[in-house]
Formats: sequence, structure tokens, C-alpha cells
Amino acid sequence: MTKKKLGTLCVQAGYEPKNGEPRVLPIVQSTTFKYDSSEQMGNLFDLKESGYFYTRLANPTNDSVAAKITALEGGVAGMLTSSGQAANFYALLNILKAGDHIVSSSAIYGGTYNLIAHTMNDLGIEATFVEPDISLHELNKAFKENTKAVFGETLSNPSLQILDIETFAKAAHDHGVPLIVDNTFPTPIFLRPIEWGADIVTHSTTKYMNGFANSVGGAVVDSGNFDWDKYKDKYPSLTTPDETYHGVVFTETFGKASYITKMTTTLMRDLGSIPSPQNSFYLGIGLETLHLRMPKHYENALEVAKFLKNDDRISWVSFSGLEGDSQYELAQKYLPDGSCGVISFGIKGGRDSATKFMDSLKLAAVVTHVADSRTCVLHPASTTHRQMNEEELKNAGISSDLIRMSVGIEDVEDIIEDLKQALENL
Ligand SMILES: *Cc1c(COP(=O)(O)O)cnc(C)c1O
Repeated sequence: MTKKKLGTLCVQAGYEPKNGEPRVLPIVQSTTFKYDSSEQMGNLFDLKESGYFYTRLANPTNDSVAAKITALEGGVAGMLTSSGQAANFYALLNILKAGDHIVSSSAIYGGTYNLIAHTMNDLGIEATFVEPDISLHELNKAFKENTKAVFGETLSNPSLQILDIETFAKAAHDHGVPLIVDNTFPTPIFLRPIEWGADIVTHSTTKYMNGFANSVGGAVVDSGNFDWDKYKDKYPSLTTPDETYHGVVFTETFGKASYITKMTTTLMRDLGSIPSPQNSFYLGIGLETLHLRMPKHYENALEVAKFLKNDDRISWVSFSGLEGDSQYELAQKYLPDGSCGVISFGIKGGRDSATKFMDSLKLAAVVTHVADSRTCVLHPASTTHRQMNEEELKNAGISSDLIRMSVGIEDVEDIIEDLKQALENL
């Protein structure tokens, strides 16, 4: 299916029923799978044969939906996780261990920042944070002898900064390490990072991919482009015998699928953050309309951004689609067809006006979520990013008056009407 266009992949990729099988991807709600002999099952455990035996390691519903996302991103292998947090943790931990170092963009989701700056730091994995639009020259200085990966968000949540993917990919590859990017906000409909040089792509599928806010989930997709064997000493977990599988060397046995196979057979085995097949089913349904929903989110958001920009009660508006926006030029390059439905803005009068405004909204709900069909608003400094101190907030591009608005796919006239009445209320 790889030659097909994105809309076709959204609808059809990942599941091709054979004669007499269900037209719709079945929910295989079973923890385990039956075999006729112990020997057959033993071969599965030794990775000598492929097949399902326990849902923590693999499940047909989960696999089909992972294959759909892999096709959309143009990767060679992918897997689903129970959340976006798990996806980013697995993507990094799969190739890192205590004593290693990563270079990360500072413009990332609050949860990912905490994961990298604190939890992974406690595990002995150190990070250097850099701006998402840093020059190549400056970026090169962030690398150390023990740097094993570069991480960033293609379009950051909530600061809406665009990662200069080509620059980050070049620096990563010049230092012999992969670039891992979280592509949650644009989705592959608007941006396919592998085409710009990213090696591994992660997602919180909780957002636009699911699209309807009914299940938390994540995904990791490997491009298959990074040559782990070329840097054998740096990535021993992939390039040297794994004693827990009778000495299998993942790169030798699984080739381009080695990174994802290793993640499934060791991290998922040991840490177990699998999605329920039921949730993967919802995700699969959501993906079938991703190519229709993303342009609508973007169109609506652009109209809302223009409305806010022209209102003098609003102090600033940030949306990559607005001419003159700090991200406009990078957006022309990386996101020419659209970015997402999320905009951020500040209201004159600071924190108090922001809260009053948000509480007056009727159609737009105040929820800790973004990127679903229903319009919603959030004040990150007092919610998702409240663990950060002022300095960390500043580095993540979040001011204390920032309101994040996730524009849904309702009729835009009604969304704007709601904003108008809330502004009148100030
Ligand atoms: C929401 C989000 C995450 C975390 O995903 P969960 O599914 O909530 O665990 C990670 N990265 C980005 C960009 C996000 O928006």
C-alpha cells in the first residue's frame, strides 16, 4: 500500500481482510492465543517463528492499527503504546542507558519535559536542552562524547514552535546518532518528518489521530534509515547478543525492523505499556477520517486566529498560519498545507482576564485536552505546565497569560460567536 496517497492509507492501510473475513478490523479482545504444541509456542518465545501468543507482546488489532500509522508516516515498522508518554519513553530508552546523553529541543510538551529533565535524569540519562530554531553551528556544540540521540517536537505543544527538522537531522547524523521527533500536532497529514531526515517518529495518538478524545494512546514508527551497525559500540542493545533471547543480535536477525522488534520484545515485555485492543480499535476508526479532519481543524483555527488578531482586547496571537507570525516562514517550508487546529493567545489584563474569559465561554469547554473534534481551551501555566518554574516556562515558550485554544471541527461561525460573547463579558 506504500504507493497510495494519504487519504487512501487513512481509510485502508493496515488491514486487508482475506476471503470471508470481517470487512472491519476486528477487536481481538483476548490476552492469549492457542497452539497445538509446546514446541510451536517455544519457537515463538525464542523469536524463531512469528505469531501471537500473549497480547502484552503483540495483538492483531494493535498491530493492524500500528501498520496504518507506519504507512502514513512512511516508516518500515511501528508499534502502539498505551499513551504518548510511553511512546516517547520507549523511543528513547530503546537505545539509551545510564551514562548516556541526549540533545533535546526545549519546546516540548510538559510531560515529555518532565520525563527527560527529571525521570530520565534520575535514571542516569542526561539531557542538554536547545531552542527548536537554533543554528547548526550552535547545535553542534550541544553534543558530547556520550550523546546517543536527538529529540524534538515537530510542532510543539503548547508553544507552537516549529522544529527546524533538517538542521536537527543534519547535526544528529553528523554525530552518528538518530533524530527522534514527536509528530503529534501536525500528524502525517501535514508533515512527514521521515521525508525531512528524522529517523524515528513518535505520537500521542490521544490527540488528532484518535480525534474524538475517547482513548489515550501512543505510537512509535521507525524509518529503518538509521544504520545502527555503523555505530555498533554506541547501540549495544541492538548490535550485540541479547542473552534474554539466546544471544539474538537484533540488527542481524531483524534488519530494518530491528529497532521496533527490540522495543517490542524487551521494553514491552519488561515494562508492559500496551494499549487495550478496544482502544486501538477506536484509534483505527479515528484514523479513517484524519485526512478529512485535519484540514477542517486548520481552516477553522486560521479563521479564529484572524478574528482574535483583529480584536483589541487580545494582546497577542500565535498561529503558524498567520502571516507575520514568528513561525510563518518555517511553516511555509515544513507545513505548507496547514499545521493543526491549536492556537495560543494572550488577553489584555493578564491572568485574571484570562480566567474570566475562559469561564465565560459556552461552546468551548475548559478541559485538559487538545486536538479533538470539540473546541476547548486551557491555561497551561496553571495546569499542564504547573510543575515548571518561571525559567522552565520561559524556555518552553509559555507565558503566564497564554491561553491555548484547540479549535474543533464545529461550524466556525459558532466558535467565533462564542468568543465574541466571552470577550464582551470582560
Ligand atoms: C499529549 C502529548 C504527549 C503525551 O501524550 P499522552 O497520550 O497524554 O500520554 C506527548 N507529546 C505531545 C506533543 C503531546 O501533545
